[in-house]
Amino acid sequence: MASINDNFLKLKAGYLFPEIGRRVAAYAEANPDKASQLIRCGIGDVTEPLPLAVREAMHKAVDELGCRDTFRGYGPEQGYDFLRKAVADNAYAGLDISADDIFVSDGSKCDTGNILDIFGKGNTIAITDPVYPVYVDTNVMIGNTGDADESGRYEGLVYLECNAENNFVPAIPEEKVDIVYLCYPNNPTGASATREQLQAWVDYALKNDTIILYDAAYEAFIQDPDVPKSIYEIEGAKNCALEFRSFSKNGGFTGVRCGYIVIPETVTGTSSTGEKVAIKKLWSRRTSTKFNGASYPVQRGAEAVYSEEGKKQVQELITHYMGNAKLLREACTEIGLKVFGGENAPYVWVACPEGVTSWDMFDKMLEEANVVITPGSGFGAAGEGYFRISAFNSRENVEEVCRRLKTHLA
Ligand SMILES: *Cc1c(COP(=O)(O)O)cnc(C)c1O
Repeated sequence: MASINDNFLKLKAGYLFPEIGRRVAAYAEANPDKASQLIRCGIGDVTEPLPLAVREAMHKAVDELGCRDTFRGYGPEQGYDFLRKAVADNAYAGLDISADDIFVSDGSKCDTGNILDIFGKGNTIAITDPVYPVYVDTNVMIGNTGDADESGRYEGLVYLECNAENNFVPAIPEEKVDIVYLCYPNNPTGASATREQLQAWVDYALKNDTIILYDAAYEAFIQDPDVPKSIYEIEGAKNCALEFRSFSKNGGFTGVRCGYIVIPETVTGTSSTGEKVAIKKLWSRRTSTKFNGASYPVQRGAEAVYSEEGKKQVQELITHYMGNAKLLREACTEIGLKVFGGENAPYVWVACPEGVTSWDMFDKMLEEANVVITPGSGFGAAGEGYFRISAFNSRENVEEVCRRLKTHLA
């Protein structure tokens, strides 16, 4: 008899996106004439093609693999030096992060989940509410929580409420937590954190021996020069924070798969005997055993994001998506909705009219405007009363969404 990991039974079976899919399919079936008009602004996936510089680099890498002299087999598990160095030199220029601190992977979803391998049992873990569901579910799977309550909150996690009053950046908790997940610019709220807010979190972490897991998947979308792009711009962060980044949203790698974790030597955890141990050492060991590296053509493609042409082409993608975000913000504002986010992130976070729930709004948008959005309550109890519109779309679709908002929801 093979017993199973009972923690999986605690999961609220992938509730959000399947439920969206179910409602959209039911609507399309009942209204076949409308099905082709549906515009999806739900799931946070990029829509625009891969930059030319990236494709050229990948083609070249594939050809190298086809030639005896340049063929490569297994690469270094932690990533090729050329990519680790390109990341350190470009993404962390002036921040004293070395190539050796960069651990290349096949994306941040895996990284934010897998990192839990190296932490012990019994840590107090804090997440924001609303939140990227991966942080929660991976903690449930590994046994860091009890059961979920009515509102979907798991026993044992510390929920840090984000709301309009705190600009969707949580207040520093009264209690001591061992690990906290922060994501700025944020998915789903589109909020960004100021230098002062991040400094307060780093100060808290240093005082309480907390590790900050900082997800910076959307740093490339930051427009305001005062908003920090990396947690390492904050004094003291190198002693308490890991940073997760991905090529998914800036380079359009959601289907290509490449990301990395930054782990400075000076971030430590504590062993059961009270000894300080470098997280970097543990993660490197874990990576050598459980991972064989992102593929060579993919790492060459990622390297090309930092080439002169690559930077220009990525910037065009960002400009495109942020132009969409601006149009969506303006349209929602024009019809009298209260709008957040969308200024340093590709997500616009919108308050539903008074008394309207997130799912009510979802149905209304689907049925009246034929637009698919994401209900805020799907990201956590504190997301109730909001919905998220993704700016990942063609300009044509976004302009049509704006027209429909003004026609059907004004
Ligand atoms: C899209 C996204 C990522 C990136 O995930 P990948 O696995 O690298 O594609 C990470 N964090 C958040 C919050 C995201 O929305």
